[in-house]
Amino acid sequence: MPELPEVEITARRLGTALAGAEVESAVAPGMVAMKTIDPPLSDLAGRRVERVWRVGKMPVVELSGGEEPLVLLVHLMSAGRLQVFDKRASLKDRRSRVLIRVADGRELRLREFGTKQRAWAKLLPSGELEADEMVATLGPEAWPAPPSEEFARVVDQPRHLHPLLRDQRVIAGIGRSWVDEILWEAALSPFKQGSELEAEEVGRLHAALHVLGDAIDHYEEVIGETVPDKLPMPLRVHRREGEPCPRCGATIAAVHFAEHITCYCPKEQTGGRMLKDRRLSRLLK
Ligand SMILES: [Zn+2]
Repeated sequence: MPELPEVEITARRLGTALAGAEVESAVAPGMVAMKTIDPPLSDLAGRRVERVWRVGKMPVVELSGGEEPLVLLVHLMSAGRLQVFDKRASLKDRRSRVLIRVADGRELRLREFGTKQRAWAKLLPSGELEADEMVATLGPEAWPAPPSEEFARVVDQPRHLHPLLRDQRVIAGIGRSWVDEILWEAALSPFKQGSELEAEEVGRLHAALHVLGDAIDHYEEVIGETVPDKLPMPLRVHRREGEPCPRCGATIAAVHFAEHITCYCPKEQTGGRMLKDRRLSRLLK
């Protein structure tokens, strides 16, 4: 599940690989992948890739040429990948969602693993990106971390920290993996409410956002020109249930939800309390 650090390294590597590349044609084999129809994908022919960056967890590819630059805003959802390939995809590849064919034979490909079609893209005039609902509703970027006063304001809500920090309208870029790492770094319970935090705890949470920057630094070191399908995520607690906490040695515990899992250190984050399994409590309601 690509989150801020994974999308950042993807955007950096794609930007390097594609800068100046001329588009020959573009198609969307995933019938529901394109959420816009005007301008059409065919407008990309003859344009050049100007740069690639990200907003929150969404990669953005800017293409110059024509009257106004166009941007391809991509949402990878949980199983999408945006990658450059040396050869074009077989038309039988059912993972293909959007294919941007480069004149030199390469191809920028939005693929999606699994059977569900959830990843999407929008082609917009670059001047309309900021106003797009998915961009306009984003909270401040989680990395580089927002100013501490702004961060304190956005997390001051009566909601559990785990869903609060994953809410892109509150703060942009954090998902199910990195939220566990941030809360562990800050030694805060996933079930503490944002509005219950003492000023010192808000400060710890704000400082903990550095794990996102550390992850980007890690990827810069270990990832070559191409981002692999599965990134070597430097996670210390997420999906490490039963392993020793890297800081205090207590056994990492987990709460299982219907579609995700939260891992935490009971000794440092919940005062020794084990949290209830939410799958079971949901069934009993
Ligand atoms: Zn610990």
